[in-house]
Amino acid sequence: MQYAIETGVKMQVPLLDLKAQFATIRDEVLPAIAEVCESQMFALGPVVADFEEKIADYCRCEYAIGVSSGTDALLVSLMAMDIGPGDEVITTPFTFFSTAGCIVRVGAKPVFVDIDPDSYNIDPTCIEEKITEKTRAIIPVHLFGQAAQMKAINEIAARHNLAVIEDAAQAIGASRDGVKCGNFGDCGCFSFYPTKNLNAFGDAGMVTTNSEPLAQKLKILRDHGQNPRYFYGMVGGNFRLDGIQAAVLNVKLKHLDSWNRKRVKNAAFYDELFAGTPIKTPKIDENNVSIYHQYTVALPERDRLQKFLAENNIGSAIFYPKPLHLQDCFSELGYKQGDLPIAERLCSEVLSLPVYPELTQRQIQYVADTVLKFFDTN
Ligand SMILES: *Cc1c(COP(=O)(O)O)cnc(C)c1O
Repeated sequence: MQYAIETGVKMQVPLLDLKAQFATIRDEVLPAIAEVCESQMFALGPVVADFEEKIADYCRCEYAIGVSSGTDALLVSLMAMDIGPGDEVITTPFTFFSTAGCIVRVGAKPVFVDIDPDSYNIDPTCIEEKITEKTRAIIPVHLFGQAAQMKAINEIAARHNLAVIEDAAQAIGASRDGVKCGNFGDCGCFSFYPTKNLNAFGDAGMVTTNSEPLAQKLKILRDHGQNPRYFYGMVGGNFRLDGIQAAVLNVKLKHLDSWNRKRVKNAAFYDELFAGTPIKTPKIDENNVSIYHQYTVALPERDRLQKFLAENNIGSAIFYPKPLHLQDCFSELGYKQGDLPIAERLCSEVLSLPVYPELTQRQIQYVADTVLKFFDTN
């Protein structure tokens, strides 16, 4: 086998390189921050309103409500739907913690169902058997940038009169059947955490919806429930989005499509090179356009590959090492090993490789060569 890299060349490829991204937008983003500083309007305000409008436009939805994080987007959505003690919410065990954490925080019970082995998203065929008279909502997650099977999920939700809250934290710009994520459910929850495809200089999030009453309620709840000021008809929280974060995000949103396209291109490059190896590359449903928030492969020798990559200065990460139904904090729910076998197996097999847009051709070639070398020498 031929390697493009000369032996002895030491290259560094982190999983994500935010400094490289900053270098490309520094001249745009610093003046935008300075403008907010001049205005001294830090909590909500005109720049936030402008960003909300731009996100609604970008996601092709009616309303977008800026909030303090993706976690708070989920939390305030559950609050807006009056989901609480005695209620059950169906979701996936193969996701970031807060998807289920928020369900518990409002006093409801998460009910986990297994995932589809190809897309790693919630398996719609496993949902209906878990529905009880207490079930109020389904939270599908568009994991790694690929939309869940929303048609099937929405059909089940409609049959049982359940709300659908999309956890679209990893999927801004992704679409399914030509529809952008954030439009499938009653609302969509986005995160602009620094590692996400559209990322702030700190924490930020958004809820999208096409329901006017829900949008109104979300706006009131994100600001303590006050309406009008200092009059409280419901108990909300401080889930406000900062002006400085909105200013940063306004600048970055202009670049998002081009960044996402580069991720897609990087993913295609890996796909081609890994074909014919024991690696399972990401499977994108033909109806989906993925934004490759992560490029996640699966293989039984995952731990050894990760070690080999680290020895060669290549960053990688395991999303996620332990499914949520087996986490200690949910032990009272009574799940045990073997309950959700596909999610459990994937936790020991998945590995996310660098796919960020600023990867140079040499870097991505180096990652691919190193992975191929692993199979050659192992
Ligand atoms: C990042 C993420 C969240 C939480 O978003 P924060 O902005 O970090 O609070 C929720 N769900 C998923 C799937 C995520 O990836």
